[in-house]
Amino acid sequence: MTKVAPFHSAKPNTPNVYHDNNKCTEGNNIETQYLRQGTGGRPRCQHCDRLATQGQ
Ligand SMILES: [Zn+2]
Repeated sequence: MTKVAPFHSAKPNTPNVYHDNNKCTEGNNIETQYLRQGTGGRPRCQHCDRLATQGQ
């Protein structure tokens, strides 16, 4: 797994979380026009959490 700088989606009606792993499918699904840098003051996405815990 590769940890990356935190990013999140500015798209309405999406989970209010941030991602920090380039293996996260949710994070990778964010369209370019909604991609924002930083955590946005949100909690980390559960999938990214799991990836970080697995270390894979
Ligand atoms: Zn994520």
